[in-house]
Amino acid sequence: MWPEMRSAHNARKEMNVLDTHITVAIDGPSGAGKSTIARAAARRFGLIYVDTGAIYRTVGLACERAGADCSDTAAVQALLPELKIELAYDAAGEQRMLLNGEDVSDTIRLPEVSLLASRVSALPVVRAFLLDLQRDIAAKHNILMDGRDIATVVLPNADLKVFLFASAECRAERRYKELVEKGQNVTYDDVLADIKQRDYQDSHREIAPLKPAEDAVMFDTTGYDLPTSIDKMIGLIHERFGEV
Ligand code: C5P
Repeated sequence: MWPEMRSAHNARKEMNVLDTHITVAIDGPSGAGKSTIARAAARRFGLIYVDTGAIYRTVGLACERAGADCSDTAAVQALLPELKIELAYDAAGEQRMLLNGEDVSDTIRLPEVSLLASRVSALPVVRAFLLDLQRDIAAKHNILMDGRDIATVVLPNADLKVFLFASAECRAERRYKELVEKGQNVTYDDVLADIKQRDYQDSHREIAPLKPAEDAVMFDTTGYDLPTSIDKMIGLIHERFGEV
């Protein structure tokens, strides 16, 4: 068992809920604070946190390294059988991505990899390739999985589905502050335009577009700070599963 899996397992054992299999799906647009909120909530309940965006980023990086055009279905498809993509968890419980045995967790966060991920994620062959990997993890563990199509495609029978969002203006403001703190020379208007464009692309793509599942709880974080958003997410999980 991976270290994080073991600690999650022990946490649940203490809570006497090991006989329950729990799946929580959280979807939503970029920049709504999804992964930070999801990670904190998963930790609170001893669930394995699965960041599926990281998996798409790893495929994008692999294609780039192999010299394959990320929008070329045939080129990407030819590469997929060669790829060994694994999720692992470090001692602190953080998800790490391994590509053919190499830890690429930091490299996949580079801005250029976001673009590659976005391109490969629009290819049906890639989505089909990753479906089993994601479902397999969810079948074996109590998980909280975040992404864009978890409740609608990957885990349509998830026990709790949350669609987490915030207004484009609120997300742009958060992102703008982050970038300025990092010393980047950007304008708020450019950041807002970028967010609106990505929202449009994500929700209008042909395959697995970003949209709430019919039975998802809609969670609008506009105007909430991070601790409040985390508390509210913990509240939603409590409400669904009781005192876990
Ligand atoms: O969440 P993150 O920004 O890391 O995701 C990277 C890319 O992968 C995004 O462009 C997003 O559209 C795509 N993605 C996806 N389906 C998921 C998770 C991410 O298409 N379940």
